[in-house]
Parts: sequence; structure tokens; C-alpha cells
Amino acid sequence: VLKSAAKVPSKILDLMDGFRASKALFVASKLKMFDHLRAKGPLKAVDIANEVGTSVCGTERLLDACAALGLLEKTPQGYSNTDSANTYLTSDGEYSLHGYIIHSNDHLWPLFTNLESAVKEGSRQNHRAFGKKEEDLFKDYYQSQEVKQRFMAAMHSIAHLTARDVATAFDLSQFKSACDLGGCTGALAHELVQIYPNLKVTVFDLPEVIANTSYFQPSGQHTAPVTFVSGDFFKDNLPEADLYILSRVLHDWPDEKVHVLLSKISAVCKPGSALLVAEIVLDEQKTHPPRAVLQSLSMTEGKQRSGSEYKQLLEKYGFTDVQIKITGNLLDAVLGFKENLSP
Ligand code: SAM
Repeated sequence: VLKSAAKVPSKILDLMDGFRASKALFVASKLKMFDHLRAKGPLKAVDIANEVGTSVCGTERLLDACAALGLLEKTPQGYSNTDSANTYLTSDGEYSLHGYIIHSNDHLWPLFTNLESAVKEGSRQNHRAFGKKEEDLFKDYYQSQEVKQRFMAAMHSIAHLTARDVATAFDLSQFKSACDLGGCTGALAHELVQIYPNLKVTVFDLPEVIANTSYFQPSGQHTAPVTFVSGDFFKDNLPEADLYILSRVLHDWPDEKVHVLLSKISAVCKPGSALLVAEIVLDEQKTHPPRAVLQSLSMTEGKQRSGSEYKQLLEKYGFTDVQIKITGNLLDAVLGFKENLSP
């Protein structure tokens, strides 16, 4: 008697192939194949190979893989970008994810190659991936100009894509001034001044970052300018503001550093001013959304938190009426108001 065929575990098979798919996307992006196709598509593999300087057979296999993954269309005329590739995968599109893809390929991929050691040792694997000792995450990124630019481009691509969701998660029109701590290229700050024209926004970040922000500024925009201030948010005085913002900052740091930062913010906040945190908020089981759970595997000393954990954390530092907005997009938002201690 023949046994009935085992059901194909398609989810598991897809996960087994996930690394090949990621790498195909990364390499096609790095070789700027989507840029060439937007400029001149449809193109045959041989034309792209000539433009990029790659082998014809390797290029054809990569392009077929991209077509199989739904990133390209293949017709008898050749390969062309899908709409989504035009929008997100070309390197200079407004909502390009190119910066984050290159960061994933050049930085996260080598770290994740060492995931087994990371799990055994419970620590980030910079020394194995890049031959460097464990250091402050950002000192590491900012040691070389090239790595710094790459990291800033990666942050910018996600921040620009998520800025509207974060800026509109709550009505912030009551605030006159905001300070985006660790605001990097100013992507969120620019969105805020567009949505709230009366809001004065300051971006506060390390001097190495502030010195490199000019490349990322929007051109020809007729909105109020954003102010950039350099400093270290653990050591220096924070600019005055009635709304402080921490977007994708808290998850990077161990509890002691989070304590220093939130104590400082709480101390400078006047009653009625507020703190807006933008992070991926985990569900209470801490298994959803997978994006946040997978990010944790980088083993930074920080951690991802659930909604109730963010609420407790903000309350611990004197913020009340804490509200959480799950945007259903890349970043969620948490807002708390500094307690009014006067009777
Ligand atoms: N807020 C941006 C976003 O959501 O895209 C950037 C997030 S990035 C993960 C963290 C930011 O914090 C970087 O721009 C980094 O330079 C900045 N940062 C790290 N340490 C800092 C410090 N000690 N003082 C000020 N900024 C710091």
C-alpha cells in the first residue's frame, strides 16, 4: 500500500530559501541593476552584463531569480522593473530602500553569518564578522567615513519611509518646539515641519553625524528649516523643547544607558511637555511583529519592548497618560506627557 504523499511544508521550504532570496535582492541592488533597468529597460541579460561589467551567465541567473521573486518582469523583449522595484529598489528614488539594503548586505549579513556564536555567547559578533573588538555600536559605525555614510543612508531610507506615520500617529499641533534626539539625517524632522508648520524642530545627534547631514536635506522645499545641533545625549545638555523624540534609539541601549537618557529627558521636561517614542512595539507575547523579533538577533545590548513595557518605562520616568499607536506600518509610536506635579 502506498503511503499518501507527505504535505509539502511550504512555509519551512520558503524559510530555507529565504537567505538565497535576500542575497539575490542585495546583489542586484548593489550592482544597481534596478537603476539600469529603470533608465533603459526592457533589457536583455547581455546588455545589463555589459553595462554593469558582470558575466552574462551570472547576470542572467540573477535576473531570472529576481523575476522569480516578483521584483522584475521578464518578457521576450527582456527584463523590466516592477512598479515596486522602480519605487523602492532604484538607488535614488524618493522612497528608495537602497541604503538599508546595502547596510543589510555589508553589515547585517556578516553579523548574521555568525548567529550561532551570537546565540551561544549572547553577544554581538562584530569581532568575528569584522575583526573588531566589541565597542559602542555607533563608534563602530562612525570609525570610517564609508561605513558612516552607509549607516546614515540606511537610517535615512527607513526614517523617510516611516516619517509620515510617526509624525501623524498623534496630533502634535499643541507643541511649539520639538527635539529629535538621535535624529540622524533629519528625515523625521523635515516631515514634522511640513505637517506642523508652526513647530520648530531641532535634530540632535553626534558631531560626526551632524557634519554629514547636508547630503540628505530635501531640495526646493518651502517649509521652515530644521536646526541641527551636535552633542552626546548621554553627556551634554539637551536643547530645550516641549516635545522630545526618540525614534529607534531606545532599542539600541542597555538598561543603564536607557536610565541615563530618560532621566535626563525627564529632568528637562516641563510639566505638560511630552516624549514621543518611535519603535516597533511588540505584542505582549513578544513574538509579533517578526521584524522586531528578528532584529533582536543582532544581539545589541538593547532590546525590543512590548506596549506595556514602553508604558511602564515612560511612567517610571514621570510620563503619564501614555498612549500607544500601532500604525500597522514599519514603526509604531508611544506618547507620554510629563506629569504636572503642582497641586
Ligand atoms: N532616529 C533615527 C531614525 O529613526 O532613523 C536614527 C536612528 S539610529 C538607530 C540611532 C541614532 O542615534 C543615530 O543617528 C546615532 O548617531 C544617534 N546616537 C547614538 N549615540 C548617540 C549619542 N550618544 N548622542 C546623540 N546621538 C546618538
